[in-house]
Amino acid sequence: MTYQTINPYSNELVHEYPFDTDQILSETLAIGHDLYQRMKNQPIAERSKILHNIAAKMREHADELARICTIDMGKLIGESAGEVELCAMIADWFADHSPELLAPETIDTIATGQAQVLHQSVGVVVMVEPWNFPYYQIMRVFAPNFMVGNPMILKDAANIPTSAKRFCEIVEEAGAPKGALTNLFLNYDQVTEAIADPRVQGVALTGSELGGAAVAKAAGKYLKKNSMELGGMDPFIVLGDADMDDVTNIAWRVRLYNCGQVCTSSKRFIVMDNVYDEFVAKLKEHFEQVVPGDPMDPKTTLAPMNTARAKQKLQSQLDAALAAGARLVTGNEPIDLPGQFFRPAIITDVTPENPAYKEEMFGPIGVVYKVRSEDEAVALANDNPYGLGGIVFSGDPDHGADVAARIETGMVFVNNFMASLPELPFGGVKLSGYGREMSRIGQMAFVNDKLVVKAQHSDLSNPAGGLVVA
Ligand code: NAP
Repeated sequence: MTYQTINPYSNELVHEYPFDTDQILSETLAIGHDLYQRMKNQPIAERSKILHNIAAKMREHADELARICTIDMGKLIGESAGEVELCAMIADWFADHSPELLAPETIDTIATGQAQVLHQSVGVVVMVEPWNFPYYQIMRVFAPNFMVGNPMILKDAANIPTSAKRFCEIVEEAGAPKGALTNLFLNYDQVTEAIADPRVQGVALTGSELGGAAVAKAAGKYLKKNSMELGGMDPFIVLGDADMDDVTNIAWRVRLYNCGQVCTSSKRFIVMDNVYDEFVAKLKEHFEQVVPGDPMDPKTTLAPMNTARAKQKLQSQLDAALAAGARLVTGNEPIDLPGQFFRPAIITDVTPENPAYKEEMFGPIGVVYKVRSEDEAVALANDNPYGLGGIVFSGDPDHGADVAARIETGMVFVNNFMASLPELPFGGVKLSGYGREMSRIGQMAFVNDKLVVKAQHSDLSNPAGGLVVA
C-alpha cells in the first residue's frame, strides 16, 4: 500500500505519494548525523528560539493545518484545531523549560572532586507514529528531542501523509535546520534498515501491539534504545458516592472524542451497582444525541472513522462481542451517509470469555460493567492485558486518589478528564508499552546521562580511591 490521503467523509482519494527510495533514506541519515555533530556545539538557547518559532508558525497556520488533518483522517474540525493548539503549547513548554531540565546535575559523592551528570544528545532518532493524532503524536517526540539535540526521521502512518508532510515543512519554515525532522514515506523494511544504521541511536513508536512488537524486535536486534506507546483499555471507575452529573457529563465525551479512536479513551466503564442503571441510561441518552455529518461543519458531533478498514474491524469486533453473549444497549445500526460512519454503541454483560473483555475496540463502543464493591472494581480494572490510563470518580477526591494508586496503569485521573499536557509524563505498563513521553521523564528517553568527575589532583585516601569497579 502506498501513502494515500483518502478523505473518510467523502471516500475520495485526495493525494497519493510514492515511497521514498533507499537513496533518499541514506542521504537523510547522513544529513541527520551531520546535524547531530553540529548541534552538539550549539547553545541550547538557539533551539529554544526555533521551537518558539515553530509554535508561532503552527498557530499562524492553524486553520490550514486543521483542515489537512480533518481531510486526512476525518476528525471533527474543532478537534483538529484543538490538536494544533496543543502542539504549539507543547513546543512552547519545551522551549521554555528544556534549558533547566537538561542542565548538568551535581552529585554529592565521596569520590574525589566534583561529580556531574551531563544530559547530552545521542544521535538520530527514528519515530514511527500513528494516524489518530496526526500532529500531536509527532510533537510529543519532536519537541523534547529537538531541544536535546537529536535529529529525527519520521515514518508516519500510511493514511495521513499530507499532515506528516506539512508538519515537517512548517518545522523547516520556522527556521529548524534541514535534518532536524525529516518525513519519509518508508516501507517496513526501510524502517528496519534505518534502525539498523549505526547513526541511529533511538526508536520511538506509538501504535498497536503488533506494530510495536515488530519495531521493538528490530530495535532489540540492533541494540537500539526504544520507547513503546501502545494500546489501551482504560477503566473509568464510578464509585457509589460519585457526583453523577459530573460523571455523566464526562463519560460520553471521553469515549466519543476523536470518534473513540484514542489510546486513553475510557473503553471500560466499571460502575457501582447503586448508580449503574442511572449511568447506563444517561450514557445511552448522550450516545444517541450525536449528530453525524461533515467533520468540517462545526455543528457535526460524530465524525467518520479514519478508514474503511478500521470501520470493518470495529464492526466485526462488535458482532463477535454480541455473538458471545453481550447485551446491546444502543447502536449497531448503519448511518445513512457515504463516509466511514459508525453509530456509537453500548454493550453490557461482557463476561471474561467474551473477546470484548480483553480486546481493544478502537472506535465509538462503550462497554459497561456492574460491580458490587470497590475491591471488585479494582480487580476488574486490573484484570486486563493493557495498562495505559484510567479515570476514577469518587465523592471524596482523596479516596479516589487511593483507588487510583491501586490501578495497574501508567496514568490515572481522579474526578476529571484525562489530559495530555507537556509537563505530565505520558505512557503505560503491561501491553500498553514502556517508557514515557513528554515531561522531564520523556525528555530523558534518548539522552546520554554522562558522568564527568573532575578532580584537582588524584587522591587514593578515600574509600573508592584507586578502585576500578565494573
Ligand atoms: P499500527 O498499525 O501499529 O501503526 C502505527 C505506526 O506503526 C504506523 O506508522 C504504521 O505504519 C507503523 N507500523 C506498523 N507495523 C510496522 C512494522 N512492522 N514496521 C514498521 N512500522 C510499522 O497502529 P494503528 O492501529 O494504526 O494505531 C492505533 C493503535 O495505536 C491503537 O492500539 C492505539 O491504542 C495506539 N495508540 C497508542 C498511543 C499511546 O500513546 N500509548 C497513542 C495513540 C495510539 P503504516 O501506517 O504504514 O502501517
